[in-house]
Amino acid sequence: MASLSLKHIYKVYDDTTKAVNDFNMEIADKEFIVFVGPSGCGKSTTLRMIAGLEDISAGELRIDDVIVNDVEPGDRNIAMVFQNYALYPHMTVYENMAFALKTAKVPKDIIHQKVTEAARILGITDYLERKPKALSGGQRQRVALGRAIVRNPKVFLLDEPLSNLDAKLRAAMRAEIIGLHERLGTTFIYVTHDQVEAMTMGSRIVVMRGGFVQQIDTPKNLYNHPANLFVAGFIGTPRMNFWDATLKKEGETVRIRLDSGSELVVDGNTLNRVQSRYMDGRHPVTLGVRPDDVLPWREGMNTTEWAKLPATVTVVEALGGETLIYGHLGVAIPDDPPVGAGAEEEAGKAAGRDTVIIKAPAEFEAHRGDVLDIAVSLRKLHLFDRETENSIIPVVPIENVCACTLGNGFLIFASQRFSLPPALGKAAKEKAAPSAALTLPTGALLLGTGSGRAKVEEAEIIRSEGVTKTLYRLTVGGETVFAAESGEPRFRVGDALPFDLDFSRITVETAGGPPSSGITPLPVENRLNGRFTKEKETDGKGRKVYRFYLEVEDLPVAADEELREKLFSCKGTAIFRTPLSYRFPPHAVTVSPRSGNADARCLPGRVTETLDYGRTIYARITVGNQSVIAPYDGRAGETVNIAIDQSKLTVVDAEADIIIV
Ligand code: ADP
Repeated sequence: MASLSLKHIYKVYDDTTKAVNDFNMEIADKEFIVFVGPSGCGKSTTLRMIAGLEDISAGELRIDDVIVNDVEPGDRNIAMVFQNYALYPHMTVYENMAFALKTAKVPKDIIHQKVTEAARILGITDYLERKPKALSGGQRQRVALGRAIVRNPKVFLLDEPLSNLDAKLRAAMRAEIIGLHERLGTTFIYVTHDQVEAMTMGSRIVVMRGGFVQQIDTPKNLYNHPANLFVAGFIGTPRMNFWDATLKKEGETVRIRLDSGSELVVDGNTLNRVQSRYMDGRHPVTLGVRPDDVLPWREGMNTTEWAKLPATVTVVEALGGETLIYGHLGVAIPDDPPVGAGAEEEAGKAAGRDTVIIKAPAEFEAHRGDVLDIAVSLRKLHLFDRETENSIIPVVPIENVCACTLGNGFLIFASQRFSLPPALGKAAKEKAAPSAALTLPTGALLLGTGSGRAKVEEAEIIRSEGVTKTLYRLTVGGETVFAAESGEPRFRVGDALPFDLDFSRITVETAGGPPSSGITPLPVENRLNGRFTKEKETDGKGRKVYRFYLEVEDLPVAADEELREKLFSCKGTAIFRTPLSYRFPPHAVTVSPRSGNADARCLPGRVTETLDYGRTIYARITVGNQSVIAPYDGRAGETVNIAIDQSKLTVVDAEADIIIV
């Protein structure tokens, strides 16, 4: 039984290949986690770092809340099962399973008890006296699992354990491993490149690509809410259909115009999470529809639920239980049709992205060249930004983008007028810019107070990684605006409530105006370049001791014990030679007026500017040639002490651009 915590984990091979970048995950006790992605994406490397078989280049790995970066593999209480299970050929099954315990000098009667118990769990009791060569592939894999079980590990790591088995046996062994996980009640981490295996086994799945985590979620959420085009295409067979398109809002509806010529008209409400900037009829997007959600059109289908599009059939695959139809949108037959095996892949690659895969009932008859009407479910549409490839229908919207008017001391959006705080005096003094774009993070709406008026249309509770949030869908002067708060809902559907804006977090861009006429948000993160240093000093009893410092502009700040330990465990003494970037949010800084001598725990600074945002007043404070922003009501020119909460500090290797802790 074990929980795992992976924070900012990196793997750099040969100081060049970044095989794993900034892997972050909290794994609860008894979870079944699957790492999935194409070959070379960093799955095995991550697993091997957890096992201790590979050094962690940067980051922090905890098992049951203990940092194990430097703990030997044998002391981590982890068992690993590989694809090549490498049983000892000259030993019996019993001896193979007993081997590790024997080496660890476990008493014979306990070994016997453990081996027979593991054999019973795995159903291999009858083979205990056989040699591996007298076993089938599936039985050998069970012995490999048995060798792991007898050690009572806290965590099971499995690296493609089934890829040497044939398809039928693989499916059977999958079910056995799921059953084994339930019986043992231990944490499992399983690596595979096979998305079907991932979807059937994982309680949560980590999708990786090119060393980067793409999405971590339950199988259902990955399928229904893929975060980007890669996840959408990787999860699900046959692959999701992708069609290039543009969106245009027209009253209560949205017109989805496919580049290939067809059109779908959707009720605007179903796309209310899509930012309005995508709705101008020009912004390139990609529409995604799963083959499960495309059917042959039937008379009487509801046109508010289904869109009717013409398509031309190129290949028909009768699979018995269902028929897959490959084709193209529109009525033209392509010159070079994909045929037979690999047709799906070919179809996906075809230029113009106008290919379509349809899941039809088994009895449905179609032939190459037929022109069909197909029905596309309007309730199951996925949309992606064509440039960033990210989903534009977020589960939790992070920001609203709306039109606004800025100037003459006010910001007006959705018919609501807000006075600009003194910090935005420059924008306030400008003449009103009538066509500006406001980017309003969902967390920057302060509900329950202020001059704005909103109505709650929907309140959704979102729980993730032990954190509860409420997402409100509001109408503000006829526009839809999302607001997020931590905790359970404070307001109910139908409530009318006042709200204010956190002006330190908004962005306003004015079309064509000088840069000064917009609003930029306060940085969410301060950055100070520096080093980590040590000094030999004499303590109160005359002994020589080392003291450790964060150094910025040659100014030392005493390092916390915990931070020092973390930095050492990740970098060793190389930490003293590494140029660092210390990063921390403004709220991690406590500023106090400076009087008398320097405090070893603070940096000296000078206030250059105060930024009055109404609710909070911030100060811009210089430290040598660098500067930070922190909440502080001071005056320009004042000298201050800056104390940074080191538990909120992110330390980055500035040269390699790797987060150390
Ligand atoms: P996966 O398990 O997803 O197939 P790996 O974790 O094995 O991927 O590999 C991730 C990346 O790291 C690949 O680019 C691979 O070539 C590289 N890599 C793996 N092992 C080493 C090594 N020992 N030295 C250098 N590069 C490696």
